[in-house]
Amino acid sequence: MRALVKARPEKGLWMQDVPVPEPGPGEVLIKVRKSAICGTDVHIWEWDEWAAATVPVPLVTGHEFMGEIVDAGAAARKYTRGRRVSGEGHIVCGICRNCRAGRGHLCRNTQGVGVTRPGSFAEYICLPESNVVPIPDDVPDDIAAIFDPLGNAVHTALSFDLVGEDVLVTGAGPIGIMGALVAQRAGARKVVITDINPARLQLARGMGLEHAIDTSAITLREVMADIGMTEGFDVGLEMSGAAPALRQMIETMNNGGKVALLGIAPAGFAIDWHPVIFKMLTIKGIYGREMYETWYKMIALVQGGLDLAPLITHRLPIDRFREGFDAMRDGSAGKVVLDWG
Ligand code: NAD
Ligand code: ZN
Repeated sequence: MRALVKARPEKGLWMQDVPVPEPGPGEVLIKVRKSAICGTDVHIWEWDEWAAATVPVPLVTGHEFMGEIVDAGAAARKYTRGRRVSGEGHIVCGICRNCRAGRGHLCRNTQGVGVTRPGSFAEYICLPESNVVPIPDDVPDDIAAIFDPLGNAVHTALSFDLVGEDVLVTGAGPIGIMGALVAQRAGARKVVITDINPARLQLARGMGLEHAIDTSAITLREVMADIGMTEGFDVGLEMSGAAPALRQMIETMNNGGKVALLGIAPAGFAIDWHPVIFKMLTIKGIYGREMYETWYKMIALVQGGLDLAPLITHRLPIDRFREGFDAMRDGSAGKVVLDWG
């Protein structure tokens, strides 16, 4: 089969012929129909320090996908062949304390599809049956292919009660935009989203996020005064991974505010801890998706009318994967979805 492989420990991904994987007893074999590109895949392409320390070479990459089940191991009996599915890309151990308590997203031994085990930039992928998520008929293929990052957004946004709250989302990348849209639908009062890339802010506005703010041009304090916010933000969703954005967030939170951190900031950067303490902020780190409550909620949100189609700015045949990666790299893309044809 064809697959995008990290074949060598250097910059790039290469389309190669590799054997079709064989499902283990508890696994299913999925024929991939659509793959989406994640920022993580760009890091793996670039072969930065994180990628070099994490990804074994050679490895089939990719983890955002949808497809259909075409085969199954002897002990995988829950789904029939032909079922349209997506899948949770975190493979958990099942035996640590958190796994046993039903909190798989907190597993200490998580393996990552397309990061530490073979991924979904391929014609076929094997996945444990327990990681498979069936897709309802009314959810289009393209949307099912971006459930992984939508799940990051939903997990982060629904970490705290949003009803009637003023919410700050820093970073209008695909995940920030999805998080802000979820906050709106969940009943937030004001939703302000920030970025420093005009293309991303334009995309956010086009999707109905009225308060999409370029913080390189105007301060959050000015915006807050403009829209009648007299105190501060009640909930913060950090989705940029940029240190200045987190500092702005801490600075503009109301006393008792709650902050969820999804964006992966540079290691060891400094923040002023005094406002965290004196405002009595709650800060929660977010990794992946809750297994599987996040999947349940995100499918329900999409079925309830959350429209993510405009976020997919590039739909390309798999052979044009380079173009897709280029658009991701230069910040002009929302989501890029590749079609295996
Ligand atoms: P992205 O890189 O596409 O989006 C980040 C956005 O932040 C960009 O549009 C960028 O212009 C913007 N930004 C940069 N500096 C800023 C600033 N000072 N203020 C406001 N915005 C600023 O990333 P994404 O795919 O949307 O993912 C969002 C973040 O979440 C990334 O940091 C990613 O690494 C992280 N992530 C974490 C997990 C997890 O499980 N914790 C999972 C997926 C992604
Ligand atoms: Zn575990």
